[in-house]
Amino acid sequence: MPSSPPLTIQERVIAIRDTLPPSVRLIAVSKYMPADLIRQAYTAGVRDFGESRVQEAVHKMTELKDLQDITWHLIGHLQSNKAKLAIQHFDWIHSVDSLPLAQRLERLVLSSSHQSSPQLCLQVKILPDPTKFGWSIADLKTDLSALQACSSLQWRGLMTILPRGLTEKKALDTFQKTRQLASDLTQEAQGLGTLSELSMGMSNDYPLAVQSGATMIRLGQCIFGDRPK
Ligand SMILES: *Cc1c(COP(=O)(O)O)cnc(C)c1O
Repeated sequence: MPSSPPLTIQERVIAIRDTLPPSVRLIAVSKYMPADLIRQAYTAGVRDFGESRVQEAVHKMTELKDLQDITWHLIGHLQSNKAKLAIQHFDWIHSVDSLPLAQRLERLVLSSSHQSSPQLCLQVKILPDPTKFGWSIADLKTDLSALQACSSLQWRGLMTILPRGLTEKKALDTFQKTRQLASDLTQEAQGLGTLSELSMGMSNDYPLAVQSGATMIRLGQCIFGDRPK
């Protein structure tokens, strides 16, 4: 039997979208992918794109500036020397992962003439994971009052990346703990505002994240295929 041709980006987007509640924002993670593939996803209706490196993203934003209604999300670790460029170009930064970075963003927002500053997520790790950036729950408690003092920042929610190789049950439990943490912080740290966004779920675990209340999922490979590297 001849094998069927692989799905196009558009077909993949449509198939995934069909499984999602309408309220979940699908972010197509286009890191390492060229601008023409972003256009294909755009044609399928995607308006949110995630990038992990500031300069690579700014380059693509220039190539795609005719697509004016794209919302750009920074999802990778942000070095402090790129923070200024990031707040100028991104609508969202999901990967605010340390107090010094938050304080730097606060200073930049205060001193910039930009009318709009990005919406932000605190990147957290519910389980210990030395390979990932972000706050453990304990570290976050320590930094909470200093974070609330950054009163110009627009916190919207939490972002998390699960450690590799969890069982389905453990993954579900960890996503649910992230959701609980967002609700606890909204009660206990009112200076952060209402943390209603949960950026969680990637190609291999997004159905579990959606089941646990994710409001934004970040999908790369299941839309674009394997990344060149
Ligand atoms: C690369 C990346 C993704 C997408 O991962 P896939 O496995 O390709 O879906 C999501 N979130 C972050 C933070 C990433 O760096």
